[in-house]
Amino acid sequence: MARPHAVVIGGGIGGLTAARALLGGGWEVTVHERSRSLAPAGAGLAVAPNALRALDTLGLGDAVRERSSLHGGGIRRWDGRWLMRMDADRIRAWFGDPIVLLRRCTLVDLLAAGLPAGTVRTASAATVVDPGGRDRPARVTTGSGELTADLVVAADGIHSVTRRALFPETPAPVHAGFATWRFVVPADRPIVPAESWGRGAVVGLMPLADGTVYVYVSVSGAPREWTLEEHAALPRRFAHWHSPIPQLLAAAAPGEMLRNEVWYLDTPPRSYHHGRVALLGDAAHAMPPNLGQGGCQAIEDAVTLAHTVSGAGFADVPAALVRYTAARRPRAARVVRRSAQAGALLCSGYRSVATVRNIALVALGPFGPQVVRRSVTGIFDWSPPGAARR
Ligand SMILES: Cc1cc2nc3c(=O)[nH]c(=O)nc-3n(C[C@H](O)[C@H](O)[C@H](O)COP(=O)(O)OP(=O)(O)OC[C@H]3O[C@@H](n4cnc5c(N)ncnc54)[C@H](O)[C@@H]3O)c2cc1C
Repeated sequence: MARPHAVVIGGGIGGLTAARALLGGGWEVTVHERSRSLAPAGAGLAVAPNALRALDTLGLGDAVRERSSLHGGGIRRWDGRWLMRMDADRIRAWFGDPIVLLRRCTLVDLLAAGLPAGTVRTASAATVVDPGGRDRPARVTTGSGELTADLVVAADGIHSVTRRALFPETPAPVHAGFATWRFVVPADRPIVPAESWGRGAVVGLMPLADGTVYVYVSVSGAPREWTLEEHAALPRRFAHWHSPIPQLLAAAAPGEMLRNEVWYLDTPPRSYHHGRVALLGDAAHAMPPNLGQGGCQAIEDAVTLAHTVSGAGFADVPAALVRYTAARRPRAARVVRRSAQAGALLCSGYRSVATVRNIALVALGPFGPQVVRRSVTGIFDWSPPGAARR
């Protein structure tokens, strides 16, 4: 009997994880990526316990752990004073795993390495022509011509053409009120991992397993175009921040810094599916990066989707996708809301908000980590459907 066929639109973290999960469930899969390669934009990536658990179901969790460093350290003020210390072991004790950090391309390589040759078609932009229904397949135009599919996974990112076509009433992404810069540079000195908070800005320094350091910077402000000269001026903006922030910013060539305005989907699509098409990852629930959950939620979507359609016959796929929406939409919407709240607080440009925030954190003293724990409980403790806990 012919295997059911899934067309995945988008070869990012979400699309590749979905491809791995569906292949494992007996599907034939083709991934269509519009770019010429799978090389992802982005520097480092934090993977939280919930996503590690999902990757475990694909046999990839340990490979990710082995290639990662531990996210931890705590929170400092711009001048270096500690507001709260938080080591990785505490997260591990609470949730069974720490948050781990690796290069984004390492995760993409791991995901892609397990796909049979020919699964990924690059330079192949894809568009849904017909979402299909109970009695008819979906139709998709791709760089290799028109395909029919039992299932279409639309993992085509925040500006998803699929979402806009199938859910035109969904409001466009909104600006989160800040922009980010990201880069990886060699660490020429021991780096204490931490996130440092100032007024209207956050800088994260996270050492990676290969001796480099992942630096991320968020600066509040309305969206606008930036010139390369302004990138070069970034070290001046942080010249008075604690060491080694100015030195690391100066070490990165302006052209190597990835800069993004941060947008997110404030209003979710009314459903995560239409006919035989499932929205997945940023296409369904793009969120500000402040909880480091965008990619993690895409990974959760992927293993949940594969579980939900596992064993579904041709006519059963649309009904299985109703269950996928029910499992994923309320949860991901909650994570988007929490991420947006965290982003608004962390990147506030108001001196009074930044001061109160810092005083509150110091005043919490030894209870600070418990507050952090509460803020991620319900997110980090998620378990994939059908999986036994590690
Ligand atoms: C500054 C920043 C830091 C972040 N840090 C973290 C973090 O530490 N941890 C974390 O979990 N998340 C983080 N995220 C979020 C994370 O990057 C995203 O949530 C994640 O990349 C979403 O994956 P995706 O596959 O859904 O979408 P994407 O990564 O956007 O991939 C979509 C893919 O689809 C392709 N595509 C688009 N349209 C088409 C088409 N028509 N046909 C074919 N291909 C198409 C695109 O080229 C792209 O490759 C961060 C985000 C930002 C902005």
